[in-house]
Amino acid sequence: MQARVHDGLWLVRIEDIDPPREQAGASELILTALEAYGFDWDGEVIYQSSSARAHETALDALLDNSLAYRCSCSRKDLADAPRGPLGTIYPGTCRNGCDKTETAIRVLTDDAPISFEDGLQGLQTQRLESESGDFIIKRRDGLIAYQLAVVVNDELEGITEIVRGIDIMDSTARQIWLQKLLGYRTPHYIHIPVITHPDGDKLSKLTGAPGIPLKEVRPMLVAALQALRQEPPAGLADSTLTDIWHWAARNWKLEPLQGVTDISVDSVGPNFLTATPSMP
Ligand SMILES: [Zn+2]
Repeated sequence: MQARVHDGLWLVRIEDIDPPREQAGASELILTALEAYGFDWDGEVIYQSSSARAHETALDALLDNSLAYRCSCSRKDLADAPRGPLGTIYPGTCRNGCDKTETAIRVLTDDAPISFEDGLQGLQTQRLESESGDFIIKRRDGLIAYQLAVVVNDELEGITEIVRGIDIMDSTARQIWLQKLLGYRTPHYIHIPVITHPDGDKLSKLTGAPGIPLKEVRPMLVAALQALRQEPPAGLADSTLTDIWHWAARNWKLEPLQGVTDISVDSVGPNFLTATPSMP
């Protein structure tokens, strides 16, 4: 909605660059669900795997400019490294070279603060060298890491505004760092709250949430608008899917979500927990 209200294009990108972790048919299921809910995106679906050449070009640019280096550290080698909110803080062991052939590739970081003004969450700042250390941009198994792939695709597609879940907000500073090193623009970021269990865990398949139902989609869609504090009028769920989307486009506002970091499933109503699983 945020894109439409601002006359932007709304794109769908399937991030299929991690085949070992992908469930067979997952992409199709996502697209089927988006269609069932009446999401009407612009243009063709973009498959991230089709940008593999661009990912490699960006990686080579970083290596050629000595902004990235090979790292042969195993998990065991890093067992004693300090840990921060972003995971293991890489201590820079391989900054001066390593002689192994099977390596991951890390990007050099420094400790200058990286800040951005989030559209909902306000000013965010991280110091990468002390909070994450040099992070992996190509994995030892040869796959491009998420952080690098995302910034390359955002640049390729000319993305100016990113609306995504707050659970990814702590990746943003690393992505801005890569954008700077590669000479890319930094988009505007808006991190919206995610629905959580009463104990604060994000609602997801991992925490036992059922798949999104593909029937009775209108009450779910209206419940989602309600969860996002859009105050849909009573009876909106009885309208057609098209009319629900028209209402949402006319009434979309970010202000009620200002500073909101999570939405408890309790406040949303029973739909989100009792939905029939659509996938085993
Ligand atoms: Zn290393």
